[in-house]
Amino acid sequence: MARVGFIGLGNMGAPMARNLIRAGHSLKVFDLSEEAMNYVVQSGAEPAQSVTDAASGVEFVVTMLPVGANVRQVYIEDQVIGAADAGTVLIDSSTIDVESARAAHAAAEAAGYRMLDAPVSGGVVGAENATLTFMCGGSPAVFEAARPILDDMGGKIVHCGAAGLGQVTKICNNMLAGINALAAAETMTMGQRLGVSARTLYEVISASTGRSYFFNESNPVPGILPTVPASNGFKPGFMAKLMLKDLRLSQAAAQASGTTTPLGAAATAAFQALVEMGYGDEDTASIIKLIDSELS
Ligand code: NAD
Repeated sequence: MARVGFIGLGNMGAPMARNLIRAGHSLKVFDLSEEAMNYVVQSGAEPAQSVTDAASGVEFVVTMLPVGANVRQVYIEDQVIGAADAGTVLIDSSTIDVESARAAHAAAEAAGYRMLDAPVSGGVVGAENATLTFMCGGSPAVFEAARPILDDMGGKIVHCGAAGLGQVTKICNNMLAGINALAAAETMTMGQRLGVSARTLYEVISASTGRSYFFNESNPVPGILPTVPASNGFKPGFMAKLMLKDLRLSQAAAQASGTTTPLGAAATAAFQALVEMGYGDEDTASIIKLIDSELS
């Protein structure tokens, strides 16, 4: 069993850290929020005094932070890189821009550490059930070194390629997910307005070529699937404002790679409008409120 420093104990980090404790690892944890820290400490983690305290005397550091600026802050300015013991494996599971991920990798490698970008898919439920998909970027040797830790938090662990390519894979997935969420909302609204019941649309399309995760498993029409956010007041789930963050990352990546992404751009604009309407804290499926004003 390993000693792990865990930094960032929010909606995702807290259940991920608890799964590591459950698996028998010993955890030192840090978050800027005392409340977030206490929650994980009650599950058996040792509280750290600072980022550098959490990173020292451990074999692995795992970070689960909101955005790229936080990751640069924690690794470079607050000096996880430097404070960690030689040979420590650094795993960043935040969803961030590719540039920040590569900057953290470069700083880590220059100081002699091994680093992996390992963003996740699966949401809070996946974090709680240890069924997350990890998309990893870094050398094959670092991937193999990190794998036992990732196995205790996830169900599918994939090596996507060199530094930053975990993040690239994640934002490709989320661009498609955002497009599909908008497409499911448009389809369900138009079909009903033309006279087909929501149930019939669901029955047919969920078994046809138009199916997708946001159509089949998180349909945006309230009452179609009993346990999904749409049937539960659009309580997240995956918040619309986080989908907007990831769609913006996808558009920055599209620009950097010279890729034309008209559907990604449309989904980004739609989620921006939804957030401006005040629905940012609701689930991604609430995008249907932009299409069907009767639901807003
Ligand atoms: P969150 O806001 O709930 O948690 C982030 C935590 O990081 C907070 O507790 C905050 O206090 C802490 N933090 C911020 N800066 C810090 C610093 N400098 N030092 C120490 N702690 C610091 O966010 P979340 O929902 O847990 O998401 C984390 C990451 O995972 C994001 O990049 C998000 O896009 C990604 N993600 C989230 C979901 C989801 O469903 N919530 C799913 C997949 C991926």
